[in-house]
Amino acid sequence: MAERPPRDPEPRRTPGTDVELRPGRDRSLAGRHPWIFSGAIASLGASLEDGDLALVRSADGAARGRGFVSLRSQIRVRMLTFDPAEPFDDVALDARIAGAIARRPPAGAARLVHAESDGLPGLVVDRYGDTVVFAISSAGLERRAVAVARALGAHAPSRTLYERSDGDGRTQERLPPRSGLVAGEEPPELVPVPEQTHDGGSVTLLVDVRRGHKTGGYLDQAESRRVVGALSRGADVLNLFSYTGGFGLHAAAGGARSVLEIDSSAPALDVAARAAAENGLGSRIERRRGDAFEALRSLEAEGRTFDVVVVDPPKLAAGAAHVARASRAYKDLLRLALRLVRPGGHVAGFSCSGAISAVLFQQIAWSAALEAGRDAAIVRRLGQPPDHPVRLTFPESEYLKGLLLRAP
Ligand code: SAH
Repeated sequence: MAERPPRDPEPRRTPGTDVELRPGRDRSLAGRHPWIFSGAIASLGASLEDGDLALVRSADGAARGRGFVSLRSQIRVRMLTFDPAEPFDDVALDARIAGAIARRPPAGAARLVHAESDGLPGLVVDRYGDTVVFAISSAGLERRAVAVARALGAHAPSRTLYERSDGDGRTQERLPPRSGLVAGEEPPELVPVPEQTHDGGSVTLLVDVRRGHKTGGYLDQAESRRVVGALSRGADVLNLFSYTGGFGLHAAAGGARSVLEIDSSAPALDVAARAAAENGLGSRIERRRGDAFEALRSLEAEGRTFDVVVVDPPKLAAGAAHVARASRAYKDLLRLALRLVRPGGHVAGFSCSGAISAVLFQQIAWSAALEAGRDAAIVRRLGQPPDHPVRLTFPESEYLKGLLLRAP
């Protein structure tokens, strides 16, 4: 039996509050990558507690920067600065939040803070009109939640400031879920969020900030929804994994003849139905509840075809260990979608798994096209809009990739 490689031992605990790396394990620091995994750490100060700001040293003792500590997470330190002399107090936190907001458009729906990409590990802030929703997923910012809320009140004043710190990311850091009103008025049951269409018009999305996914909506697909809207004049459109129907609204507003939304979530489809009615597009949008894989097979069996198919599944690969299985699932989806597309029609396929690279996703599309017997072409690459920036030192922040394929 092959011997398993020795696992990195747990870091030693030494007096004080510093973190010292193992020899040769400071390459990611040199590249200014913000995560330090437990295996790279030789010793952790015994006085450190979850959420403390630690001074990080390389094996030769040189101070290399400061970051938030999380004692039980695999990501043991999240770097905030690579300048050991730079303080990171509530004033600095306020300045980072202010800076992130200043880089966004002054009004309308937008992601205001995109975590590490804005120098704020574990903080996501989305603005839906006059409702601002934030989610904290790092032990460091958990301790500073009051300062985060204060900064948001000052730099992104809103009618409602709401917290949705109840996502998966928190389990890794062993933080309990927390959500609720932080300041201002209770949000309405569904927040109406106008979103610009490709032709300068607008549709109104309905966002449930209390119970919706993540902060309530998927602002990261705003640009791709416009791309689909622009393709939809006179088209029959299939929107798989529709959630609350964002792509479908853009398609119908763009002149689609019919839209079929498929999702496994009844509450999401209820919101989609209300949004379709609210936009006066109800007569052209239908919904089916069910599993998207099965729906694709039964639509094929029914002999249905479409001009545009949107495939926007949830994250299918949670990490590197799931890449092979997820790749097969993405391939199946794209193959089945390509088989339903009429000649000259389009498939807009997406992956929001950080572990699936853009290169791999294109290879997946290639095998899907081969297996479907459709020699499709990429006519456009889709991805994160500018309010979801990808920091070069943190390639993991590029999670969303999409391909607009045209089938022959
Ligand atoms: N395109 C949407 C976001 C999609 S999120 C937008 O622009 O807003 C992914 C959706 O897939 C969720 O609504 C979830 O309910 C749904 N889902 C997850 N697994 C599914 C499955 N097997 N079949 C159908 N829908 C599924």
